Amino acid sequence: MPIKHVIERLLHSTRQSTPGQAEFYQAVEEVLVSLEPLLASEPKYLHNNVLERLVIPERQIIFRVVWMDDSGKIQTNIGYRVQFNSAIGPYKGGLRFHPSVNLGIVKFLGFEQIFKNSLTGLAIGGAKGGSNFDPKGKSEGEIMRFCQAFMSELAKYVGETKDIPAGDIGVGGREIGYMYGEYKRLTGRFDGVLTGKGLNWGGSLARTEATGYGSVYFAENILNKQGDSLKGKICTVSGAGNVALYTIQKLYEMGATPVTCSDSKGMLYDKDGIDFNTLKTIKEIKRQELSEYLKHYPNARYIPVDAYEKGTNGVWSIPCFAAFPSATQNELNLRDIQTLHHNGCRLVNEGANMPSTPEAIAYMLANRILYGPAKAANAGGVATSQLEMSQNASMQKWSFSEVDTKLHAIMKSIFDLAYATSKEFNEEGNLMLGANIAGFRKVADSMIDQGAV
Ligand code: GLU
Repeated sequence: MPIKHVIERLLHSTRQSTPGQAEFYQAVEEVLVSLEPLLASEPKYLHNNVLERLVIPERQIIFRVVWMDDSGKIQTNIGYRVQFNSAIGPYKGGLRFHPSVNLGIVKFLGFEQIFKNSLTGLAIGGAKGGSNFDPKGKSEGEIMRFCQAFMSELAKYVGETKDIPAGDIGVGGREIGYMYGEYKRLTGRFDGVLTGKGLNWGGSLARTEATGYGSVYFAENILNKQGDSLKGKICTVSGAGNVALYTIQKLYEMGATPVTCSDSKGMLYDKDGIDFNTLKTIKEIKRQELSEYLKHYPNARYIPVDAYEKGTNGVWSIPCFAAFPSATQNELNLRDIQTLHHNGCRLVNEGANMPSTPEAIAYMLANRILYGPAKAANAGGVATSQLEMSQNASMQKWSFSEVDTKLHAIMKSIFDLAYATSKEFNEEGNLMLGANIAGFRKVADSMIDQGAV
């Protein structure tokens, strides 16, 4: 059967057997289609039914989370942990707390994580989890009780060499702390079961900064290959969470000027550059609205979401040399990329997971816009999580510069691998194809080595 048909059939059966998971199908389709040239040259993957096995998680855990709010009312949420693939190492991936979380979202993230983790060159399998819990507007006590309730069930399925969760949207150092405390209370163990821990209790220096820093290192690798760099360039960034924040900080260090950031309510445009410390204080410490920024920088512009041109993301209407989508999935669509292109944008580097729609990616590839795909560009976070695991396992603590130097080297090796693989398949510079094939190959070969499991 021609490879295209094999892929179509698998996509069809995936839709039939797991209905209502649009983001998951999107992630699967992108990977399967880019594997075509590899599958054509290496029949072993089809012979061993690797694709069919790969799109079914090894295990999906769905559980009830019950907690009490400040008024004494019992609240319920749904908790998830999808342990997708353990061919190359223990399950590893973050937890997302956001009202939009459902099984399809967790599966898309877990699926992406398999290839991302493989690209890091480290021994970590793919997983993801989370809950439809909305941390916004919750008190400190409510957050703590929710995290404890969530971990009271999750603890049964995780372990330092089994499954090691971390943060994602809505889960930062505070939530990891509450979950770790509960894990310890239940198990009596002080081990590396979570990453993104506090620095006093097993966390790694540079883990907080790693996704954003890694994303910028990746972009710099892409540009260096073209004989260019970020120095002196105007950049747009979306999001105002951990990834966006440390992308902004590193962009300044590279001599670039990041002029935007955004949250669910609106965006900021400061043509002189977003002030990192002010943004960090507003979002990370005081947990305030982005519009607070205007009190410190009255010349900046705040644009609320309802003032964006319909069907577009306001951030991408600002002219820039490079765009860093660092908020969430499908935040950059065809119209956004057309606007960016029209305004002279040369590079899109994905800090978030799957932030560009398939149409936007197709447009980038067709119009030779440089493209750093998420699995490669944002792999620095999880890579540094693995460095945290290494430190925990060996009871060591490395310095900030030791970790950052390793992160830098990992991002370069991911770029080199994705680039070399794109060349091997006669698509030089198509890093999406290169990253997908390279990430897949290591996992698929390991699955074959380990037999029918
Ligand atoms: N949530 C992050 C990601 O998307 C980090 C996962 C981790 O550190 O395990 O890769």
